[in-house]
Parts: sequence; C-alpha cells; structure tokens
Amino acid sequence: MKPEYRMAIAIEQPATILDLTYADLVAWMKKHGEATFRAKQIFQAIYRDLVTEYEQITTLPKALRARLAEELPLVAPSVARELHSRDQRTIKLLLELSDGAQIETVLMLYPPNPESPRARATVCVSTQAGCAYGCTFCATGQMGFARHLRPGEIVAQVLHFARLLRAHPWSWPVVPNAAGSQHSGALDRVTNVVLMGMGEPLHNYDNTLQALRLLNAPEGFNLGARHMTVSTVGLVPAIQRLAGEALQVNLAISLHAPNNEMRAQTMPVARKWHLDELLATCLDFARRTGRQVTFEYVLLSGVNDQIPHAQELGRRLAPFGPLAHVNLIPVNVTAAGYRPPSGEVIRAFRETLRQAGVSNSVRAERGDDIAAACGQLRTLNQRQSLHPSGGPAS
Ligand code: SF4
Repeated sequence: MKPEYRMAIAIEQPATILDLTYADLVAWMKKHGEATFRAKQIFQAIYRDLVTEYEQITTLPKALRARLAEELPLVAPSVARELHSRDQRTIKLLLELSDGAQIETVLMLYPPNPESPRARATVCVSTQAGCAYGCTFCATGQMGFARHLRPGEIVAQVLHFARLLRAHPWSWPVVPNAAGSQHSGALDRVTNVVLMGMGEPLHNYDNTLQALRLLNAPEGFNLGARHMTVSTVGLVPAIQRLAGEALQVNLAISLHAPNNEMRAQTMPVARKWHLDELLATCLDFARRTGRQVTFEYVLLSGVNDQIPHAQELGRRLAPFGPLAHVNLIPVNVTAAGYRPPSGEVIRAFRETLRQAGVSNSVRAERGDDIAAACGQLRTLNQRQSLHPSGGPAS
C-alpha cells in the first residue's frame, strides 16, 4: 500500500458500542424505539464504572441488555501476551482484535518529579495494525500496513488499562515534594493518552479523531484534550486539518533529522512532504492553536547525533520560540542495527540546542527489558512462535 494522505477506509465489520459517540448512541436509541435517557446510563457504566459486559448494568431492563449485546456488542480485544518491566512501571500488551490482527499497547507509570508534580499513568495506543510509512528505525515500519483500527478499537486499549488501574491502583515509591518532605501516593486512573503506538494516527484521521472525542466526552471517559497527544511523521494536509478542530489536543512530530536529505534516508514520508513545508505547517499550527509543538528526535549513534546536526536543528526551530520543544529519544536497539549515543554525546547535543534557545528534554528509556518500542513485541512474538525455544527471555 502506498503511504499517502487519505481518509480512513471503512472497516467491514459491525460497529461496537465503543465506536459510538454519546450523540450517536442517543440517535441509535431513538431509532430503535428505546428510551434515550438510557444512553447516559450506558455511557456512564462503560466509561466511568468501567463495566466489561452489559449484564453488569443492572439499571437497564434485561431485554435492553440482551438487545445491546446482540446489536452493539461491548467487546474487548484479547490479551495475547503481557509483559511487565523489571521496575513494574511499564506494562506492554500484545492485543488480538476480532479479526486476528495484532496490535501493541503500553502503560507507562511516572511518579511525581520536580518538573511534573503529579503522578501520571500514560497509555500509548496503536491506531493501525502495521504501518504504511516504513521508517527504517521502527519495527512496525518493517511489517507493512494491515488495516486501520476502528474508533472503538483505539478506545478499548485505554479502557483496558483504566480497568487495571481501578482494580489495582499503582502506589509510587516515596519521593521528595517541593517543600522537601517525603510523600507517596496511589493512582487509580489513566491520566494521559499518547498516540505513539503502531501506525500513523493521521493516516487514519477520522477514526482517530472519533476515538479522541470519545475519550474527551464529558458524558464518558472525560479525559481533557490537553492530556492527549497525537504523534505523526508529518502528513501536512492532515496537520492543517487538525489545527482547525475544536478538540485542542497536543501535536508531536516525529522529526528525527535536522534536514530533509537526512530525514528521507530513514523516513520515506520526507520524499512526499519536504521538511520546510512540514515545519511551516507546524509553525502555523502552533500560532493558530497557541499550543507548543513537540518534535521527537530519535538519536541514532553516528547518524544524526553530532553537534552540526544540533546546530542545524536549532536554526530551523528558532522561529517557533517557546512554541517548540525537542524530545530526544536514544534509539531502542532494533533489527535495523542502530545504536543509542553515549551520555556525553547526548549532553553535548542538548547543550547546543539550549544555546540556540530551543527547550529540550530526554525521554526516559522505558521498558527496554520488555521490547517496549513500537512494533518490537509483535515482532518478538512472531519470532518466538516460529522458534519457540530460541527467542530471548522476557
Ligand atoms: S515510526 Fe510511526 S510512521 Fe514510522 S513506520 Fe513506525 S509507526 Fe509508522
């Protein structure tokens, strides 16, 4: 399949309740002769009480529960594999969808720290099975594209971890607070959602936006738009469209190179939309929305991690002023054979960006011991299925 910008294709499967917005459900109830006030009960049961089946919604008449189960099923993907990092702060799932497609979802837990005084439970969700964009450093990119996910399949990933946290709140270790004393606490809900799992979210634009609206809906999951981040390789027309949406989510760009020539070597998308065009679109997005754009930059040792690269990146992002932030990510080791740079190289890169006036941070490595980078678990699972005794231990 050619990587190009277009609307989501229709998935030839019946809708589930998780595909419907509150307004959709009200309309469905009306059309089917059911009392519309029931829609609120159903939404609250699914998104606040986190029920897993209609039988648990005892406020509904039995006949309605049976009808919903038949016509708007409340289904959850099955867990094909579940891995926990050694520090228990990262949980990665390989989920199997109703047609057998496999996707990955990750929960990352962060205790409070001086820059972020609240604990966070971030779910990294997939928006497609596979991906059409073929970035060379990404395990998903090596698989090719299978299909778009429906809105409900995206939402279900978040609900899975919401239920887990509700049942087993995460207690973080004792950390010093701003006043210098020690404190600890527990978190029983999902606080952030990032669309950085398998797939390119803006290639599946309509379904992705529907999923974000469902998660944002006050009648339902009620997660603030500012707690949701769309990460894209840079589909220019889709970013322009996103800037005009009422839903003000965060935008992150997978940049990974300071110029188009270098970017095109690892990211085929750069041959379609030049870096200059992408950055101009991002600047327009930032100015129209007043929101800072995050630029993700995977550091590949000996490829894009030298001082001249940081200087060039700094020059390009200077027009953004405080509306740009660079998130540096030392690469996870994948089959492509890339290696992360040393701490010294990373520090020099950061300092060069800082001198250029570009705010930056290093994303803490998460779950290296459980193949947490996008696409790695599915690849690992397939290898171990082929060679059950020969795969790495998890
Ligand atoms: S980095 Fe994102 S866009 Fe690139 S191949 Fe991987 S999933 Fe696709």
